[in-house]
Amino acid sequence: MTAGEMDVAARHRLAKSEHFDVLIIGAGLSGIGGAFRLQQRCPRRTFAILEARDSIGGTWDLFRYPGVRSDSDMFTLGYAFRPWTGRKSIADGPSILQYVRETAREYGIDRRVRLNHRVVRASWSSERALWLVEAERGAGAERAHFTCEFLLMCSGYYSYAAGYTPDFPGIARFGGQVVHPQDWPDNIDYTNKRVLVIGSGSTAVTLVPELAKSAAHVTMLQRSPTYIVAWPDEDAIADALRRYLPAKTACTLTRWKNVLAGIYFYRLCKKRPERAKAMILDGVRAALGPHYDVSTHFMPRYNPWDQRLCLVPNGDLFTSIGHGATTVVTDAIETFIETGVKLRSGRELEADLIVTATGLNLQLMGGAEIDIDGQPISAGRALSYKGAMCSDVPNLAAVFGYTNASWTLKADLICSYVCRLLNYMERHGHRQCTPRNRDSSIELLPPVNFTSGYFQRAMDKLPKQGSRKPWRIYQNYILDIMTFRFSALDDGVLEFSGVGSAPGRPQTSRDGRPVEGATAP
Ligand SMILES: Cc1cc2nc3c(=O)[nH]c(=O)nc-3n(C[C@H](O)[C@H](O)[C@H](O)COP(=O)(O)OP(=O)(O)OC[C@H]3O[C@@H](n4cnc5c(N)ncnc54)[C@H](O)[C@@H]3O)c2cc1C
Repeated sequence: MTAGEMDVAARHRLAKSEHFDVLIIGAGLSGIGGAFRLQQRCPRRTFAILEARDSIGGTWDLFRYPGVRSDSDMFTLGYAFRPWTGRKSIADGPSILQYVRETAREYGIDRRVRLNHRVVRASWSSERALWLVEAERGAGAERAHFTCEFLLMCSGYYSYAAGYTPDFPGIARFGGQVVHPQDWPDNIDYTNKRVLVIGSGSTAVTLVPELAKSAAHVTMLQRSPTYIVAWPDEDAIADALRRYLPAKTACTLTRWKNVLAGIYFYRLCKKRPERAKAMILDGVRAALGPHYDVSTHFMPRYNPWDQRLCLVPNGDLFTSIGHGATTVVTDAIETFIETGVKLRSGRELEADLIVTATGLNLQLMGGAEIDIDGQPISAGRALSYKGAMCSDVPNLAAVFGYTNASWTLKADLICSYVCRLLNYMERHGHRQCTPRNRDSSIELLPPVNFTSGYFQRAMDKLPKQGSRKPWRIYQNYILDIMTFRFSALDDGVLEFSGVGSAPGRPQTSRDGRPVEGATAP
């Protein structure tokens, strides 16, 4: 196709496009929360939510394995604007899904969701100060086209196509069934079966005690241990507050209690890791008794919070081990065999069903291709601005929650910040806002200081964080409140401009003067 023909095709697509001020991508916990904030704080802005799947709910709709539940408390995982009234603080997946869907219904957000719209491409036109968004409609090749001024990516952090399964040698040889928790079949029957669960992350420790209720026996096979903490699934303080206070006040107080406790414990882990380690391991020893080999199976080689901690509600995993329904084996897989797996130690584990709880495939921007004036962006080479926007990418924010606290805390700060930004731009007549790093002394650092496999596997695809603000990513809700709610929007790094200001063209500041350091064409 010649350049002229391409231009005609682009104009044709543009003419057919439906326009919204804002497009939210994804109707999970974050997308529904983001829509609420837009309705509340930018009531004049038009918006729609494009959702790839045929239902609302994201993670909480996709994951259907037995016992699926939150691993952080619902007072912080739930929305600040709609109190979590469920009895359990560590809640089951179906209750969370119901909560997300009820929120969407209650605030009329469900009417703004376009289901079966998978965004495959978003192209920014500096000339028009617009995103041209292309979505695949349904399973076929039918395409829908949209334009918007601002893109709010709430597409989560992993690929919905498939979970991560390592290349296990000989896997095809196994005579039983192999299942990944992300793709749990409805009709699977594990009653009286020998089940082998590979992994010891939050999915594995959720699944194991649940499967053990009806399986003949469950073995949790881990290459190396994880820190596991027993936690009550009900919050006695929250219950007491609820008895005397209105639901919203009780929920807010409980949220702050949990936020502060979480920050305190995280800091303890970072400042005095030996003490934190001793506390966690003492808890495991108390649950499993003096004869259990805690150091082999529950004492990781890393410090607490170098990887995500796993919560087990009411110590259900430990109870299941205590009853003999579950065994933990710490060893590496040499190969799958017809009857199960052979381990490096030479031991063989027999199984009828093998569950590969081996993680997710990290994916940003919902897998969509993003370009700026025809130049594809490379997220791996970009700097993250406040953990919400990307250097040199105009009018786009992406929600990425905390690694050490509930996702929704940061999602809500980012969505509220986007509203603040949109209102500011409207007041000042700006059409574009683009974070630009003009400070060569900013060091590029990994986005998270986590050693978890799924981060390590995708590190080169993630935007980096910088050594100083506003390029730092804080895993701290209180610091982020200052960053998102109270810091100046026009901070000299976020560049505001009108229509037609392509990257590389002279940029203008609020008062119309060229921005220092801006390059001429
Ligand atoms: C099993 C499990 C348990 C978890 N438990 C917790 C917990 O207890 N606490 C916690 O803080 N976090 C937890 N997390 C992390 C969890 O994903 C977040 O808490 C939260 O659900 C993320 O919400 P989200 O809306 O940002 O993303 P998601 O729930 O992933 O939703 C993203 C939505 O975007 C849609 N989408 C993606 N790409 C596109 C595209 N290209 N076009 C259109 N739509 C698209 C998806 O279909 C989906 O509906 C858990 C994750 C898993 C997998």
